[in-house]
Amino acid sequence: MSEIETILATLPDAVSHTFGRGKPADYIPALAEVCPNKFGMAISTVDGHDYVVGDAEENFSTQSISKVFSLSLALHYAGESVFERIGVEPSGNPFNSLSQLEHENGIPRNPFINAGAIVVADILLSHLSSPKRDFLDYIRSLSKNLDIQFNKEVFRSEYDNGQRNFALAYYLQSFGNIINPVDQVLDFYFYLCSLSMSCLDLARASRFIANDGLHPFKDKPVLSPVQARRINTLMMTCGTYDEAGEFAFHVGLPCKSGVGGGIIATIPGKLSLCVWSPELGKKGNSLPGMEALKIFVEETGLAVF
Ligand code: GLN
Repeated sequence: MSEIETILATLPDAVSHTFGRGKPADYIPALAEVCPNKFGMAISTVDGHDYVVGDAEENFSTQSISKVFSLSLALHYAGESVFERIGVEPSGNPFNSLSQLEHENGIPRNPFINAGAIVVADILLSHLSSPKRDFLDYIRSLSKNLDIQFNKEVFRSEYDNGQRNFALAYYLQSFGNIINPVDQVLDFYFYLCSLSMSCLDLARASRFIANDGLHPFKDKPVLSPVQARRINTLMMTCGTYDEAGEFAFHVGLPCKSGVGGGIIATIPGKLSLCVWSPELGKKGNSLPGMEALKIFVEETGLAVF
């Protein structure tokens, strides 16, 4: 057994004391139906080895983790022009906050808060001929899993309870920062959030971010090395919303979380990983997931700093 496997095997027990301290997201009712005590983690190394523990092969709702992949695809099509419509500063505000947009003239702080990801969805709609199909193909290719689907029930639940996202999108539109019809943009945005994937799928799909932009299974780039570096930077500074400072301080890895309880993280040049456990803390990040990342970094000594 490698050192990574040995440490990974200890994590389900090591994080179990955090169960019951948070709770699964319920503002999207379909997410509240998940069993709270799930825990899984998968690691995918740049030299092509995968390691899993616990519920790592069970599907869950990717939610905001998808924002990393939608941004990557937008960078592929639109390059630097993406950042004429979206900033690169941490927001220091909740992921679905409306307030900053007014002071900042409809330019979202970064691509990983909802407002920024809604603009990314708009950019993609302008470039993709069949946006949902094209995105699904992209994510299936990155994770080498043709069975990945979106979850219709989660999608419906997001749509029916998406008043804040509608408010954000119409507000962005009033500043000229949404070009396509709002209902189409949000239909696509909710689709991105409602993908159903496992830790193993997500660890594999994130490998290009840890590996200079190289496709994990094909001999071709997904992004340039500079673009991959920028994704890592944004994950580190903005990937866990208004808890990004705490994550950088205690974990110290580029991370991106979602309210489905998943967190992806990278150690550039070495590996990508995904941890999943549905109970969230106050800022919308998985509590057992954060604990697992802290322990993993401490025990393996694998870190960015
Ligand atoms: N679909 C969720 C929303 O739009 C995504 C939020 C998240 O994972 N932080 O609110």
